Amino acid sequence: MDNGRDGGGGRCGGFDIQSRAMPELPEVETVVRHCRPRLVGRRVVRFVSHWKKQVSPSLGEAERGVVGRRVTGLTRRAKYIVWEFDDGGHLLVHLRMSGSLAWAGDGEEPAKHVRAFWELDDGQQLQFCDARKFGRIIYTRDLAATTADLGPEPLDRRFTPRVLGELLHGRARQVKPLLLDQGVIAGLGNIYTDEVLHRSGVHPATDSRTLTDEQVGRLHQAIREVLREAIRFEGTSFDWVYGGGRMQERLYVYGRAGLPCPRCGTPIERLVIGQRGTHICPKCQLANGVCQPVDGKRRPAKGKRQPVTRESL
Ligand SMILES: [Zn+2]
Repeated sequence: MDNGRDGGGGRCGGFDIQSRAMPELPEVETVVRHCRPRLVGRRVVRFVSHWKKQVSPSLGEAERGVVGRRVTGLTRRAKYIVWEFDDGGHLLVHLRMSGSLAWAGDGEEPAKHVRAFWELDDGQQLQFCDARKFGRIIYTRDLAATTADLGPEPLDRRFTPRVLGELLHGRARQVKPLLLDQGVIAGLGNIYTDEVLHRSGVHPATDSRTLTDEQVGRLHQAIREVLREAIRFEGTSFDWVYGGGRMQERLYVYGRAGLPCPRCGTPIERLVIGQRGTHICPKCQLANGVCQPVDGKRRPAKGKRQPVTRESL
């Protein structure tokens, strides 16, 4: 929970990714792709956690589950990094607010805030660093049950506009908090939800039941486009938690309060919706289902804008 303080209130000009940003689907997918070649095929010879509260069901159970086992795969489900072992067990790692994975010896200096590490049979050590201790490590023998509460993967073939429409129309909520809900759609966070809504021309406070099929179609397309683009550019770099990505150069609204909208030049505004700092173009994004395309193009209808103030949210 960021209490809405993660935006650029009072700031004008200059790109600003706030320290309250956290890894989302593209950043986690990037971590998985970077770790996979060095991890898959290796056997875990030691697992140590200095912060046993972060490990469930218990440190002992996780240790017994992974030590001596060979890693057969490394994948992602929602914002979880998923280790697959040769005996069918799985280890889920969630980076949350401040977690990161680092190979010991790769950096110029020893990693800080190492909460847990895994030693592999080739001598490598993978470290889980986490300044704020919000990260989680979960060992499970039943992956399906452990991940049962997560919504569909937005890049999965089975995630169609129709599926998205059923998810949105079946609930009476503002569209942004709904898209952030991991039980509805897996993997979206504050950065990419703001980008998706801007590229769709949908105001984040729009009642999900009022979205037209055309708007749902635009949202579906934008979700896929934004996530694929972010994965291609290895995610968005922010503060000390996540570096190396280049997507921050391609964001249209997030962290750009006061700067011109790349589409229309109107200054980007920052609102608070669902207690989250939210960035919109007040011209491109219209509220409560009034956004209608003009001649099938992705442009809002003129003269129908209903300004949404912070008070009216
Ligand atoms: Zn605009």
